[in-house]
Amino acid sequence: MREPHDYGDCYFCGGEVKEKVIEVEFRWKGKLYLVEGVPTGVCQQCGEKYFTAEVSGAIDRSIKEGNVKRTVEIPVLEIGLSA
Ligand SMILES: [Zn+2]
Repeated sequence: MREPHDYGDCYFCGGEVKEKVIEVEFRWKGKLYLVEGVPTGVCQQCGEKYFTAEVSGAIDRSIKEGNVKRTVEIPVLEIGLSA
């Protein structure tokens, strides 16, 4: 297991940032990707997410290499408020 990274305090609200392994959405060239198992610094107060250079590099690489594990369908909803 890698040591949790120390993210410092939240840049936006000063809240405590704790590392969690979550799935994140990532857009690249107009396509939406879901990346699982991402160690992410999450602000306990406002929910802002932080990635280390190592993690964002790894996400970048897996997208560019087309390292697709599986594909899921995403339901698109309409709230009916637009004219
Ligand atoms: Zn925050």
